[in-house]
Amino acid sequence: MSMIEFHNVEKYYGKFQALKAINLTIERGEIVTIIGPSGSGKSTLLRTINGLELVSGGQLIVDDFDLADRKTNMNKIRKNVGMVFQHFNLYANKTVLQNITLGPEKVLKHSKTEAEAEAMQLLKLVGLEDQAQKLPSMLSGGQKQRIAIARSLAMKPKALLFDEPTSALDPEMIGDVLDVMKKVAKQGMTMIVVTHEMGFAREVGNRVIFMADGQIREDSHEPKEFFAH
Ligand code: ADP
Ligand code: ADP
Repeated sequence: MSMIEFHNVEKYYGKFQALKAINLTIERGEIVTIIGPSGSGKSTLLRTINGLELVSGGQLIVDDFDLADRKTNMNKIRKNVGMVFQHFNLYANKTVLQNITLGPEKVLKHSKTEAEAEAMQLLKLVGLEDQAQKLPSMLSGGQKQRIAIARSLAMKPKALLFDEPTSALDPEMIGDVLDVMKKVAKQGMTMIVVTHEMGFAREVGNRVIFMADGQIREDSHEPKEFFAH
């Protein structure tokens, strides 16, 4: 089965329609970037996938679960579909290591030793193994975002959603975060990335979706060609 299927999905905020007849199938292992003007529905589309926003109409299937079915366990969806936010959302009063081990210990029931060993591996992956005992407030924005990515990966998700992961960063930090995202992509993770980084969309993504006015206007499996015209 596909990882994600939208069938005529609509989303209303009151009377305002933020998503209009979205039809979209995303396969496992795809690296999809979503681009488009501010207010076009990109973030809303992303947030429906892990149940942060409920759809108003149509059908949305994620990892074989029907998100419109009230019996669907949203905690299970959120365990399998991670999300990286623009503003990191780290726990301010926990160390970097604790930020990463919390989910595996509480949700996956890993032992503390096991969770810490895995967290150190992930810190190595994101190049921050020497920051394990620091509090997030001691880190730069780029470092915080790399920790947020490590924290998401620690849950062993089937897909990772990124909502403008570099938009809140100083320009000199963006490259390091994109490099980590590139590494994650190479590991075969299914990734859906809302971004203004056209270089990433062109070079790392294998599919680019252009949204405008709550609709998918373009859906290209050839990012290089898409950005050529
Ligand atoms: P994008 O990510 O492309 O900037 P969004 O999905 O954030 O677009 O927003 C799409 C539209 O929906 C915008 O007009 C925004 O103001 C509106 N919107 C988003 N979230 C809400 C909300 N919680 N309540 C009301 N309107 C919202
Ligand atoms: P960001 O770009 O960081 O996502 P936004 O301003 O788009 O910031 O949205 C921040 C929050 O405000 C989101 O939870 C979104 O759903 C909500 N929001 C956005 N637009 C509106 C709106 N017109 N009315 C109510 N809530 C909104």
